[in-house]
Amino acid sequence: MASNTEPKPNILVVDDEPLVRDLIVQILEPEHVCQTAGSGEEALEIFKSGTFDLVMSDINMGGMTGIELIPQLLALSPDTVIVMLSGNQTIDSAIDAIRSGAFDYVKKPFDIDHVKVAVDRALEHHNLLRDKRLYENHLEELVRKRTEELNYLSYYDLLTRLPNRTLFEDRLSQAILLMQENQQIALLFVSLDGFKKVRDTLGHDSGNEILQAAGKRLLSEVSENTTVARFEGDEFGVLLPQVASTEEAAEIANRINNALKKPYNTGGSEVFITASIGISFYPDDGKDAQALLKNAAAALLTAQEGGGDLYYFYTTGMNSDALRRLALESNLRSALARREFEMYYQPKVDVATGKISGMEALIRWNQSHTGFISPSEFIPLAESTGLIIPLGEWILSDSCLQGKKWHDEGYDLSLSVNISVRQFQQPDLAERLSAIVHETGFDCKFLDLEITESAIMNDPEVAVRTLNELRQLGIKISLDDFGTGYSSLSYLKRLPIDILKIDKSFVDDVTNNTDDAALVEAIITLAHTLNLKVVAEGIETKEQLEFLQRLNCDEWQGYLFSKPVPVADFARLLVAQQTS
Ligand code: C2E
Ligand code: MG
Ligand code: MG
Repeated sequence: MASNTEPKPNILVVDDEPLVRDLIVQILEPEHVCQTAGSGEEALEIFKSGTFDLVMSDINMGGMTGIELIPQLLALSPDTVIVMLSGNQTIDSAIDAIRSGAFDYVKKPFDIDHVKVAVDRALEHHNLLRDKRLYENHLEELVRKRTEELNYLSYYDLLTRLPNRTLFEDRLSQAILLMQENQQIALLFVSLDGFKKVRDTLGHDSGNEILQAAGKRLLSEVSENTTVARFEGDEFGVLLPQVASTEEAAEIANRINNALKKPYNTGGSEVFITASIGISFYPDDGKDAQALLKNAAAALLTAQEGGGDLYYFYTTGMNSDALRRLALESNLRSALARREFEMYYQPKVDVATGKISGMEALIRWNQSHTGFISPSEFIPLAESTGLIIPLGEWILSDSCLQGKKWHDEGYDLSLSVNISVRQFQQPDLAERLSAIVHETGFDCKFLDLEITESAIMNDPEVAVRTLNELRQLGIKISLDDFGTGYSSLSYLKRLPIDILKIDKSFVDDVTNNTDDAALVEAIITLAHTLNLKVVAEGIETKEQLEFLQRLNCDEWQGYLFSKPVPVADFARLLVAQQTS
């Protein structure tokens, strides 16, 4: 039955007898909306402008028969239910009609109730058919949408609505196939400098806004046949399928750098971020998409290491270095947690007595897969990634704990710990270091921090302030690698330091280069007039040692006495010295 919300069912009554039509209409109205047709042909005509829930059709109507009409109606409207009106003499045809697709039949002359029951049943069937079809359509639509979404997800980035790396690689491969002679393809690998820091500070939403804005800016700087894609994080790819020259690529890279460094408005504030770009060309820099991407990434890394806001073209050789550094960097991040670091100690020897007066703590990284990696390689990396801060604090704490143990065993040793440039630049260095040393129970009097000239010369004014703060804590300061950097002897007077460490490169030649010998002599003399203690590092031969003894150098360090060694070996050196 028709409910309030549903429209009334419409029924088409087809019969060549006007009386029959009228009778049926009278029975069915007003609960149903009825229309009539005098022939099968007329019924089809009416169906062209709209379908019906139910058709009640006579079988024999002069022209087209009701049975011929059935398949044609169903072709136009499969959900329409057909009920045949059959005279007594045509009961067989009624059965034929049902075989052809009619739902039911009503025998003439009509019994009113019988007609009503048949119509209700037929309409119920119609509703079932309609619901089933709606459901099927709905399912189909769902499947279609899902497929579309999945397609979208596998080729596009949802955040920026840009192609993703997969689609980018696909287009790059296609561009390689389609490339014309005398043309080249340029691939720009773009990354936002320091983006992660910005996102950590401003939050995820702001980070996303910046990425979206950056994507739009990239798009607006390139022509239509250029693919701009977002890879992952803050990395984007730009594919220029046809560039006439490297200059053209450079010009676009320059434009992109300029566009990306304009301020970003997010969360009510202005954010400034620059970008780095690495560029590779097909065919010169790689045979396929993978090689081109790898090489552009290597060039990107070089741009980032150059300080950002730069673009770099790929050059051979970038890769192996860059890759190794990349791998090291990611390993370095977890090395501290994996306890792969170990402090080694190299004795410092008193020139006058020949006894161990202290030790320099030198870090060693025993990487699980590759073995030992030199601090000269990973300390700069730790610096550039900022990892040096937690690493440096671990170094200080670990070596002070060890120093305290030796003090407790009765050895009055001084402890030298290297401080890197970046560590030294921390404004609250003295505070942080004293907290750490305090916790270990090591006496600050015995601690000296080795700082290089370049760390100090970076910002001498601030450096002097920091050095004074450290010295107020009782900590001594060594100027490490003296002679390799600015070597400004005159400046030395103004620095609040206690110890001068003459670099190995000077010591190397003192016995066969008179200039170097004279210079070392001058340095030692000057240092002594400034009340500085002098330590010579990298002594490998007896001759070198004898030379330094003659000049009254205070202490020395070098393989001639011992290499840097693990704690247990150092302890053995101490014991051996006591018994000798
Ligand atoms: P540095 O502070 O000037 O340390 C002296 C370096 O010379 C050490 O190299 C030491 O092993 C080496 N050496 C000592 N005597 C001799 C010798 O007679 N002959 C030769 N050929 N070499 C000698 P190492 O341990 O590889 O460290 C290299 C540099 O890495 C250090 O130079 C220092 O700048 C840095 N470094 C090492 N450990 C640490 C650390 O714990 N913290 C920081 N910030 N830097 C460190
Ligand atoms: Mg040192
Ligand atoms: Mg040194």
